[in-house]
Amino acid sequence: MNFPDPCNAVAEAAELGCVIDHLRDVVFRIDGLGSWRFLNRAWTDLTGHALADSLGSDFLQHVHPLDRDGAEARFQRFMAQAQEPLRHRLRLLRRDGSFVWVEASLRQVLDAQGQPLGLTGTLADVGERLRTEEQLRLAATVFNGAGEGIAVTDPHGRIVDVNAAFEAITGYRREQVLGRNPSVLSSGRHDKAFYQAMWAELVDKGAWSGEIWNRRADGALLAELLRITAVRDAQGRHTHYVAIFSDITGLKRQQETLERLAHYDALTGLPNRVLLTDRLEQLIAQASRRREQLAVCYLDLDGFKDVNDAWGHAAGDELLVQAAERMRQVLRPTDTVARLGGDEFALLLDHATSEAMVFGVAERVLAALGEPYLLERCSARVTTSIGIALYPQHGHTPGHLLRNADQAMLRAKRLGKNHACFVTEDEMGVSERERHALALRQALHAGELLLVYQPKVDARTRRPEGVEALLRWQHPERGLLSPGDFLVQVQGLELECEIDAWVLEQGVAQLGRWAREGVALSLSINLSASALLQPQLAERVAGLVAEHGVPPGRLELEVLETAALADLSAVVRTMEGCARAGVSFALDDFGTGYSSLHYLRQLPVKTVKIDQGFVRRMLSDAGDMHIVRAVIGLAGAFGVRTVAEGVETASCAQALTELGCDALQGYGIARPMPVAALAQWLAAQGDGA
Ligand code: C2E
Ligand code: CA
Ligand code: CA
Repeated sequence: MNFPDPCNAVAEAAELGCVIDHLRDVVFRIDGLGSWRFLNRAWTDLTGHALADSLGSDFLQHVHPLDRDGAEARFQRFMAQAQEPLRHRLRLLRRDGSFVWVEASLRQVLDAQGQPLGLTGTLADVGERLRTEEQLRLAATVFNGAGEGIAVTDPHGRIVDVNAAFEAITGYRREQVLGRNPSVLSSGRHDKAFYQAMWAELVDKGAWSGEIWNRRADGALLAELLRITAVRDAQGRHTHYVAIFSDITGLKRQQETLERLAHYDALTGLPNRVLLTDRLEQLIAQASRRREQLAVCYLDLDGFKDVNDAWGHAAGDELLVQAAERMRQVLRPTDTVARLGGDEFALLLDHATSEAMVFGVAERVLAALGEPYLLERCSARVTTSIGIALYPQHGHTPGHLLRNADQAMLRAKRLGKNHACFVTEDEMGVSERERHALALRQALHAGELLLVYQPKVDARTRRPEGVEALLRWQHPERGLLSPGDFLVQVQGLELECEIDAWVLEQGVAQLGRWAREGVALSLSINLSASALLQPQLAERVAGLVAEHGVPPGRLELEVLETAALADLSAVVRTMEGCARAGVSFALDDFGTGYSSLHYLRQLPVKTVKIDQGFVRRMLSDAGDMHIVRAVIGLAGAFGVRTVAEGVETASCAQALTELGCDALQGYGIARPMPVAALAQWLAAQGDGA
């Protein structure tokens, strides 16, 4: 057995003192009166107080006032009876007035009889730890309280934690996904390349954000706005990925519905006119690059109205749906079938290698549509008339092609229906076209052309406010011809401009006469696309107006929406030039073009004329009603007046007035008439205007 060596014991005590002095924690002893009896050097490091100042003083004076009562009570208990050692957190005051959180480990010092003599223990600085704990608590609150779903994965992409919102949004419980890859949520809507690009960006930039389609636990699609961030360690290695997402499924659905509504016909699910013109534009660009032909077919069912009248709209709708389906079936998947409104459809055939091939398709469509329709309450038969325009022969823009195909369709109807007709130079023959132009030019010089005037009335008061000049050819053999019979054939020819010049001159001269007679009518004159693009137009108009003494605001020029497309800035210049001479512009056949909104923004027009196709069908076709309402709303927003043309019935006039349309024109108001008849008509209105 070894006895301790007293010299050694002294040395050991000194060594122990040295160790204690170098401890990070404060080591202390307090006597029964509450005075510091021992403190190591760490005390000075922690509080800034010198040992000599503190030793012998009351420990409570170093305790933060808010913790003092607690500290004192605890001290009293320790002095009163035996106590288990304990830990206690409190704040100590520093010399500089600040405080520090410490954790005190306390233990009683007892005498030989077991009576408390004082306290001993350590004080550890826990400020840092408390701050970390606080941060963790905060992070946990954010994590679980967040409205966004959060998933944390390890660097291998295995989920290590998800929050409550994750569970709520995805329908997966935490236990179901822990340890698994987030691909359990994958919807299959994105291809491999999508995920590869996502990972590449994550690795490269440390973050990725975007929209992603996932799937909920119940299989429903889930659209997420997602941001993934990499968490790095001190060495820059990715230790975790944090994915934060919000559920935008509702938003997406809304957006999709809106897009569908804007581009598809609700009844048949077919593309509507807007989408059709869009696609046509793309196909034209493509065909022009590849030097290929396109075919645009304009279809109109013959006798559809009879079905509607006899069996009601529901039967009519049924028939349209079946007709749409039949067309889809006889066409190639790459072809487009669109519903233009009412019983009018259009087909787009790309790679139209030959006329024979297109004609073959048209025949197939005619045959398919001609089969009997078995409807719920009846069976019905209708035939179809088709007009076919080819790109590039019959037009270079969607507007032109559709318009020409429409004309050919009308000819097919005249030919006895159930027919397909090309708008061909074949049919008309180039030389025939030239012959026609020659005859028309002679007619112009022989004075066989004339203008008739169709009144326009204010929608609310129904009082005449102006007239539109419409061209007629009093043909010696064929009788009175309308522009559709003779003007379309000279589209784009020099002669067209000559005729426009003549119409302009006649019209302005008539306006001058009215002005002198005190008739305050305004006059609209139709201009062809080529006339509109002539650089000297504004100057000529200004000259004419001055020459005939036409008061400002009386002359309006009507141009097709599509005509303005060719050279927008030149058109704007012309319009502004005319405006300086008191002459305004109207966009004709508004709504049939494909970027109406675009033009309305850019062109200084005063008026839009709602195309008669929409007006005629608005009471029977919800889609057309929609368009009419939208055009009136849109025009209102741009401060542009609306004139509805093709108003044939009182109910139509009434509906348009209620929709806020400004003026009405159509057979229901008055037919186009020669100037003498117009005077009588005006007189009959009890108002010389
Ligand atoms: P637009 O400018 O849209 O003229 C309206 C056409 O609809 C006129 O046919 C008019 O007679 C017709 N219309 C008016 N109200 C009704 C109605 O209630 N029901 C129906 N079914 N039709 C109605 P029109 O006179 O045969 O003119 C056809 C097109 O020829 C005009 O369409 C216009 O684009 C063009 N046009 C007419 N006159 C001229 C002209 O002097 N110069 C030029 N460049 N083009 C003209
Ligand atoms: Ca017009
Ligand atoms: Ca029109």
